[in-house]
Amino acid sequence: MVPRVLLVAATTGYQTRAFADAARQLGFDLVLATDRCHVLKDPWGDHAIPVRFEDPVSSRDTLAAEGRFDGVVAVADRPTLIAALAAEALGIPYNSPAAVARCRDKYLARQRFQAAGLPVPEFFRVAITENPADVADHAPFPCVLKPLGLSASRGVIRANNAEEFVEAFERIRTILETSDVLILREEQNRFIQIESFIEGREFSIEGLVTAGELQVLAIFDKPDPLDGPVFEETIYVTPSRESAETQTLLVEAVNRAVHALGLAHGPIHAELRLNRQGAWVLEVAARPIGGLCARALRFDAGMSLEELILRHAVGEDVSAAQLSDPASGVMMIPIPKGGLYEGVEGVEQASAVAGVEEVVITAKEGQKILPLPEGASYLGFIFARGDSPAGVEAALRQAHGCLKFEIATALPVIRR
Ligand code: ADP
Repeated sequence: MVPRVLLVAATTGYQTRAFADAARQLGFDLVLATDRCHVLKDPWGDHAIPVRFEDPVSSRDTLAAEGRFDGVVAVADRPTLIAALAAEALGIPYNSPAAVARCRDKYLARQRFQAAGLPVPEFFRVAITENPADVADHAPFPCVLKPLGLSASRGVIRANNAEEFVEAFERIRTILETSDVLILREEQNRFIQIESFIEGREFSIEGLVTAGELQVLAIFDKPDPLDGPVFEETIYVTPSRESAETQTLLVEAVNRAVHALGLAHGPIHAELRLNRQGAWVLEVAARPIGGLCARALRFDAGMSLEELILRHAVGEDVSAAQLSDPASGVMMIPIPKGGLYEGVEGVEQASAVAGVEEVVITAKEGQKILPLPEGASYLGFIFARGDSPAGVEAALRQAHGCLKFEIATALPVIRR
């Protein structure tokens, strides 16, 4: 029987397409469920099942009535809850709704980590309606202010003193009051979390959890310092250049975090920091790495991360999967300033850099672009492979240096 997999996604972006391609390769039947089509009937012609993320229970019932599924996969954080509810109703292995809810709320996650004895920074959350000057009085400086439920570092800001704190708080409040956030109607978006700043180098770990046990697929070093005031992701390179001992420490920390959160089955993407006191897990998301970044990973016989995840979702044993390249990496091309994206020069030169496999510009001409902390996207992605992590990093930097972006200053709207 052809394996049938339910893919729950918020948008029909790159990742959804990557899963559709992977399913085709594998000969799996992939059924998409998304909330972007409950008004129009099948507007994208992909026969997606319409669900409403703001109404998880009725969405679960809709999905449970769709017949047999052998596995479920969620793309991005928000769909994980419906994926978990549907999996429970369908009786297929996945994470519990409670576990994915913890992953999606930075306050709940921190509480679980603390209870499990994992190192955590000083942390507390306050309602966005609080007076920031009062909150600043008991903030540990330097600290990081963050929304509880956004991702891709959107709204995450470091503050070194009360003045910066008040400014950051108000900026985050404005983000949480924008229509694209309000429309999600999520309880956690009414709070801001304050955490003491954890200094150190940063890493991310991509993995698969099976029956609660973590299998590490890749440890990425993030060679650019992430010291704030905003935390822009740029370069990810694997394998890690850290010693075997340090890598064990990183993996052990993520393993404990996975247990603390109660994750049971499916992909994870973890972010963590390392300093003299040890490894500090920032978060574990119950989903694969975002954007186009998964393209940086290639497994045995050229298998993509999406193929691996689909196989795992239907219960295949993928425990022997290994990365096939000696080293690989991706650069998420940061947005240097806000404005109207007008174009880029130098893509050909960047693509010709030895080791660079692909330069993908995702910004569209005429698109309004916003840098962090308000924005949460990139201009594009550069992918490189090579014999060594240092070579891959150098290739990514060299390619980025070839790119010249044209961004026009957006004219302010004059209100009369
Ligand atoms: P998101 O889910 O939006 O990525 P995170 O909580 O992972 O939010 O934070 C984004 C980035 O901000 C992290 O990758 C890290 O660089 C930085 N950061 C977050 N919290 C802290 C902290 N307590 N100390 C130091 N850096 C932090």
